[in-house]
Amino acid sequence: MGHKCFISFKTNDSDYKDYIQNDLDVDMIDKSLNDPIDSEVEDYIMRKIREDYLSDSTVTIFLIGNVSAENSFSQNQNFIKRELQASLYNGQNNSKSGVLGVVLPNMYDAVFAGSYNCSVCNGSHTTVKINDSTVIKEFSYNYYIPNDKCAWAEEDRYCVLVKWEDFIENPETFINKSFDKRDSDISTKIKVKP
Ligand SMILES: [Zn+2]
Repeated sequence: MGHKCFISFKTNDSDYKDYIQNDLDVDMIDKSLNDPIDSEVEDYIMRKIREDYLSDSTVTIFLIGNVSAENSFSQNQNFIKRELQASLYNGQNNSKSGVLGVVLPNMYDAVFAGSYNCSVCNGSHTTVKINDSTVIKEFSYNYYIPNDKCAWAEEDRYCVLVKWEDFIENPETFINKSFDKRDSDISTKIKVKP
């Protein structure tokens, strides 16, 4: 039985949202908002999104395109920020969701930047640029939850990250992985409004 998923995306990336909804062979119950709610009042819109779309969804799929960053200054990021905050928030009628960041192809080079040798553990770590230039803080903070290690292991992160091409090969694997984070130890360290 599939999990209930909400897709958080910028309008520029709606083709990818449509692909997930219409062409992807995945067992999920789509709770996404396809058309903007007809209102000028942002608080009303956000309350509708929380109540009608996010309250019973359990995984939020966040599409990471080239205008999804904290520093995409020409963009109004209020919606994706509030959608992730509502996803991370553990309320009475709205338990927190897993968060799956899907890196879209036009962001591969900006996010995945090879590997380096670590002077602390002498191991090799990959360079994954999840920061204000690539994503909003709600995602980056909960991907790189502060710790005193030299690198982050899978269990040190709440947000799950995947490349678009890997996601569409095996969507349920990544949706399930994000779903399972809700009960993991690291879930006690997340921040709703970093
Ligand atoms: Zn290291």
